[in-house]
Amino acid sequence: MARDPRFDVLFEPVKIGPVTAPNRFYQVPHCTGMGYRRPQSLAAMREVKAEGGWGVVNTEYCSIHPSSDDDPFPHASIWDESDVRALGIMVEKVHKHGALAGCELWHGGPGAANLYSRVPPISAWSQPAGVDDPVQTRAMDKKDIRELRRWHVEAARRAQSAGFDIVYVYACHWYLLRQFLYPSNQRSDEYGGSLENRVRLLREMIEETKEAVGDTCAVAVRFSASSGGADDSPETEEPRAMIELLAELPDLWDIVVHDYTHEMGTSRFVKEASLEDAMTWVKQVTGKPVVSVGRFTSPETMLRLVRQGVIDLIGAARPSIADPFLPNKINEGREEDIRECIGCNICYTGDQQSVPFRCTQNPTLGEEWRRGWHPEFIPKKTSDRSVLIVGAGPAGLEAAQALGKRGYNVTLTEARNELGGRVSLESALPGLAEWARVRDWRLAQLVNLPNVETFVASTLDAEQIMEFGADRVALATGARWRRDGIARYHEEPIEGWDGPKVFTPDDLMDGTIPPGRVLIYDDDHYFMGGVLAEKLRQSDIDVTLVTPGTCLSAWTTHTDEQTRIQAQAIELGVKLVTSTALESFDAEKAVAVLACTYTGRTREIAADSVVMVTSRTPIDALYTELQDRIDIVRIGDCLAPATIAHAVYAGHAYAREMDEEIGDVNFRREHSLVPRDIG
Ligand code: ADP
Ligand code: SF4
Repeated sequence: MARDPRFDVLFEPVKIGPVTAPNRFYQVPHCTGMGYRRPQSLAAMREVKAEGGWGVVNTEYCSIHPSSDDDPFPHASIWDESDVRALGIMVEKVHKHGALAGCELWHGGPGAANLYSRVPPISAWSQPAGVDDPVQTRAMDKKDIRELRRWHVEAARRAQSAGFDIVYVYACHWYLLRQFLYPSNQRSDEYGGSLENRVRLLREMIEETKEAVGDTCAVAVRFSASSGGADDSPETEEPRAMIELLAELPDLWDIVVHDYTHEMGTSRFVKEASLEDAMTWVKQVTGKPVVSVGRFTSPETMLRLVRQGVIDLIGAARPSIADPFLPNKINEGREEDIRECIGCNICYTGDQQSVPFRCTQNPTLGEEWRRGWHPEFIPKKTSDRSVLIVGAGPAGLEAAQALGKRGYNVTLTEARNELGGRVSLESALPGLAEWARVRDWRLAQLVNLPNVETFVASTLDAEQIMEFGADRVALATGARWRRDGIARYHEEPIEGWDGPKVFTPDDLMDGTIPPGRVLIYDDDHYFMGGVLAEKLRQSDIDVTLVTPGTCLSAWTTHTDEQTRIQAQAIELGVKLVTSTALESFDAEKAVAVLACTYTGRTREIAADSVVMVTSRTPIDALYTELQDRIDIVRIGDCLAPATIAHAVYAGHAYAREMDEEIGDVNFRREHSLVPRDIG
């Protein structure tokens, strides 16, 4: 198909200093959980984006010197020649597809505790370093500032020698240069005080980087358009004055906002193009190209922002992760094939948990090198076996569409009247509407696969499965929430769980409203407890949320939304009781007994009903009945309940591995080099 001519403007080349981006699709720097330890995984993952049409592909934050070491958070590094060789793999692969490669040179300052390098961290003045490490920085003196500038120039030269086309001066987030820029700068020399003084170091570093590598490399500056404020009332006065001072100095402005939970907000709290309010003014004060992000998945939105002169380049991290082929799909007039990011931030948990990142929508992410998986191409079938998939949640849907693309004959049956399983149910909860994209993209793919037949309202039992006679059966029947309260804290059922007025998230998602004052007991710690509290409060129901966690939805610190979740719950009037377990519930007396998780001390609170958000039980009775009779496997939550991302991955792996021999270690690993002459 041909491109819709309206979108031609998105495919115009953009000159960035001495280089030219082939189109406006710009993958901004983003963390990957791979870092300097996994250069081959990184290079293959970035290559797929260049292949998919992104005109610029950047590294993640790339440390310029051992005084900026963010371990255990995985980051790139360009300390020496061995790093140049490692990053060179990525550059070569990105160039192969005609894209530009960019390197985000980074000094963390107080943002990095240097736990690996053991160098005392540095910053504009002495202050706490790292996340919550008992470590402070040492204040930089003039010699340190000169050294920093030298390190940056030398790192830029190394980036140039690795073949990069764009190098960054990184001046935002919680890192070194930002410390100098903000009014909180406590220096009394020419690098503190007035606005001119505070931007001095950034100015010097832009000028010196240009001087060093500007003949072949564009110099980009990553900068925050706001210095604080709510999403819809950003404080932009100081940043504007600073950009005015430096307007034409860099070759490109890469614009973000002060609050990371806004810039990279989940769809529960932040919608597409949400940075617009904070940064519409930037192009009014500079003639240089401007790139910014906004979880753009709609070509219409991209077009509007370019047309209105808000941005020149469509910045994307997550949309390029969920669909590395997004630009090519627009180019080929296949917009409906775009696998839209759902804004869940599961990708960010990779960096937070120091493992290669994964994506809910794109199960091939992180598997490009180690398993040879490609987001768009899947090998053709190697047998004529037929497949029956029972259950059309994310696991079943993904397995069906991927097997269908391989050419297998597939039958997908679903007990409910609609497809989507948990995705359909969860996306109806407050703020989670975009999660439905997991279902919708897969349904759209199935439309074009005549070899996949789908049946709703068909609950299959063991005999029906036997009678169906498929060569292979995959059970993707999901899991149900436990009612007895067993999870992490309690290994035994909670007293009173089998009495009246004890509910589960499944009950609520099916429309049940618990009576009276509701106690939600959250020993799950992801989104469900908080989101149900929000749903009930919307109906003005009295809600107390009790959790053994030290905060609400504790695991969502990894998706960077915990602070917003807790703030919202407080604003909505949810009564939060943390570090506390539910010990028993007496529905007749309307009393729950709670226990402090530290002291064990108990107390009673009034509650008319309880919602147990604890753990889940796989729905796998069919497997027990059939495992010795037919070729049957369990996939997704039916095997091991986890996130939607896990279920999609399980469905995809099942399809990829069909008729393949899979060993115990089914992926390549990147080993540290072990020299022959170990001393
Ligand atoms: P997953 O996340 O692993 O994909 P879900 O819980 O989202 O699991 O989806 C499982 C789906 O399987 C649900 O929609 C459920 O209605 C369906 N299901 C469960 N048992 C059967 C059955 N016996 N026959 C057909 N569909 C079933
Ligand atoms: Fe988007 Fe979620 Fe994938 Fe991240 S994990 S790219 S937020 S769909």
